Amino acid sequence: MKFEKEEFLRETERILEAEYATDVTHAQKRELYNALSRAVMGMCYPDWRASRSDGRKRCGYFSAEFLMGRAIYNNLLNLGVLEDCREALASVGRDLGEFEEVEDAALGNGGLGRLAACYLEAAASCKIPLDGYGIRYRYGLFRQTFEGGYQHEEGDDWLKWGDPWSVCVERDSVIVSFADQKVRAVPYDMPIFGYRNGAVGTLRLWSSEAVQPFDFASFNEMRGEIKAAENFAATKICDVLYPNDNTMVGKILRLRQQYFLVSASLQDIVRKEKEEGRDLRTLYERRCFQLNDTHPVIAIPELLRLLRAEGLSFDEAFGVCTRVFNFTNHTIMAEALEKWDALALSDLLPEVYEQIVACQQRLEREDVDPQKLFIIRDNVVHMANLAIYVSSKVNGVAEIHTNILKTETFRDWYAQYPEKFVNITNGITPRRWLLLNNPALAALIDEKIGTSWHTDLKQLRKLEPYLSDMVAPFKAIKGENKKKLAAYIKEHEGVDIPPHFIFDVQVKRLHEYKRQLLNALSILYFYFGIKDGTIAEFPPTAFIFGAKAAPGYYMAKAVIKLINEIAALVNGDEEVAPYLRVVFVQNYNVSYAEKIVCAADVSEQISLAGMEASGTGNMKFMLNGTVTLGTMDGANVEICEEAGRENNYIFGATVEEVAAIRRFYCPSEMTEQDPRLKRALTALIDGTLSDETGSLKKLYESLTLGHMPDRYLVIYDFADYVRVKEEALRDFGTDEYYLKCLKNLAGAGKFSADRSVSEYAELVWKI
Ligand SMILES: *Cc1c(COP(=O)(O)O)cnc(C)c1O
Repeated sequence: MKFEKEEFLRETERILEAEYATDVTHAQKRELYNALSRAVMGMCYPDWRASRSDGRKRCGYFSAEFLMGRAIYNNLLNLGVLEDCREALASVGRDLGEFEEVEDAALGNGGLGRLAACYLEAAASCKIPLDGYGIRYRYGLFRQTFEGGYQHEEGDDWLKWGDPWSVCVERDSVIVSFADQKVRAVPYDMPIFGYRNGAVGTLRLWSSEAVQPFDFASFNEMRGEIKAAENFAATKICDVLYPNDNTMVGKILRLRQQYFLVSASLQDIVRKEKEEGRDLRTLYERRCFQLNDTHPVIAIPELLRLLRAEGLSFDEAFGVCTRVFNFTNHTIMAEALEKWDALALSDLLPEVYEQIVACQQRLEREDVDPQKLFIIRDNVVHMANLAIYVSSKVNGVAEIHTNILKTETFRDWYAQYPEKFVNITNGITPRRWLLLNNPALAALIDEKIGTSWHTDLKQLRKLEPYLSDMVAPFKAIKGENKKKLAAYIKEHEGVDIPPHFIFDVQVKRLHEYKRQLLNALSILYFYFGIKDGTIAEFPPTAFIFGAKAAPGYYMAKAVIKLINEIAALVNGDEEVAPYLRVVFVQNYNVSYAEKIVCAADVSEQISLAGMEASGTGNMKFMLNGTVTLGTMDGANVEICEEAGRENNYIFGATVEEVAAIRRFYCPSEMTEQDPRLKRALTALIDGTLSDETGSLKKLYESLTLGHMPDRYLVIYDFADYVRVKEEALRDFGTDEYYLKCLKNLAGAGKFSADRSVSEYAELVWKI
């Protein structure tokens, strides 16, 4: 894109005048944000049009979540005009930094949605024709605040700033039919800019509206109430994002959302094929689809239904489906694998259900053991099984995870169809997660090895000869980032964190398997040890947490309360003030992550081995030169392969050990044997921490009582965790420590989303 400062300012002024009757000096932030964004959008239309109609086979990435974050800075960066825009605005007395207040587009929960966002950006940057298809939720993931240490949720009205980076494409709207309801799906297209290459992908988000536009004539005849009710039901479909991560809530509204997304997308695609006079029997030559987890798997029977309505036989339609669909699994947790009651599904979507039954019957005709391989059994539809049966390729998201899929979760399917299973380790975009969030470190790297690493992250290996020289400037850059984060935390959370403290960070969704509780107990252990003198000269450390808990997830919310109570205890104690600080930041999201990731000294990735499919937070920290304190789980394993296990801090039971431990495990016995652990645990119930609702007591009991106490082996791993954590904190500050950080940076190349999407294009999409 060619950027002319004068033209850009003229266009911004023109829009401000036409839309808001104001000028650049007097415009409110919101007005300036919308006008500026629209001005830039205007310059990109030719490239967007050209990218869409280049005649190549395209992949549709179907996902219930896209965690895009803030668009403006990333778009300007990728268009290569970030600094030009900053200067242009400065020349008229405005500051690009004003838009830091713009709400994130948080149309996702966590890693799965963020992965989808990284992949769209990476595909555009690699000129791979990938389009995202999702839902334009009216409210994104809730806004989180703390009240009395408890999580409080508010609606996330992300559209209040306007949505200048989308265009509504009315002419592409389609009707989506349920047994009891018809709604109109209206697409909003968002351009996805490749990094300085002129390529533009598209994220198409569907919004639901009433079939009939609001009818004033009938309203005047007093039938308005009925119309209004219809309108309400239609818009309700995309009202809210389900705030669950790694758990399934079997609500019919969720099924409606899923069907709405895939039916609208597939109808739109089939219609275009027909307009172009194509034979749908060869659809796979021009299209394929990636199903991001089981949420969009209902696309399979929907495409069967649509193709059969176009005159294809079941076998023909099935053949097309086996060549267009591919499935990514993101979790091995049973409670997250989607299952639907067959009756409820057939009531809501009878024709779609018929196609699922036909798939089950086809499976039965193949010579397989019906006890092992099934789609419908005991009146339950197993969406993951449907996805595996029909998809061309099924992938896990890290080596260890794919191995677990093959040997445990989908063992029987793997035995029958080994050729379907592939691994594609997750990745992150180095544009948002280094160039944008840590420009000083990016510039230091540029200075050493040039800029080709921006689009070829493996080049970071070329830093290896310079790592010793980089220690001093790296320290200075990290120090500045820490100062900025400390100031931001002071302003937003009201907590003082001295920048010279070690920043030990755990930010990610709150879930028992991620074990924020293990981290919390270690802080209590350090606190009591410092108080009673058994821990001497503790290295000054700030423990920084960020996480949202699903509103219905009691134990997760209890952990938030616990950590906030520990923060109150520790931060209010003058005696430990020289050594300890604890803060739980509110409303952790992509924009907060950008600030935190570049300022961390230790990255906590401490899930129970076997539970975290991959993790991508771990990769963001690594890319910013942070050592991992973690278990041998998910992509941590590959991080150690790439950067050296000796350059990270690894502890805990391995995935091979976990099953055996569970057989003889007695957490209360282990607690009795470790007085330090016992003391930390007792603080949950002896009044040390205030527990107005009894939730800390429940946490304590989940570790010690019941049929399966301490499911996630917090107590089992505690001693090893504390030992390795102390080692990490005591190593901090030396040149050897910073060399470890830099070796992680130099080894981060594998974790570029460019590598991931290129593997999908080659192994899966055949693009
Ligand atoms: C990257 C990211 C995640 C995923 O973090 P994990 O540690 O991999 O679970 C979640 N939320 C946000 C806002 C992120 O940016």
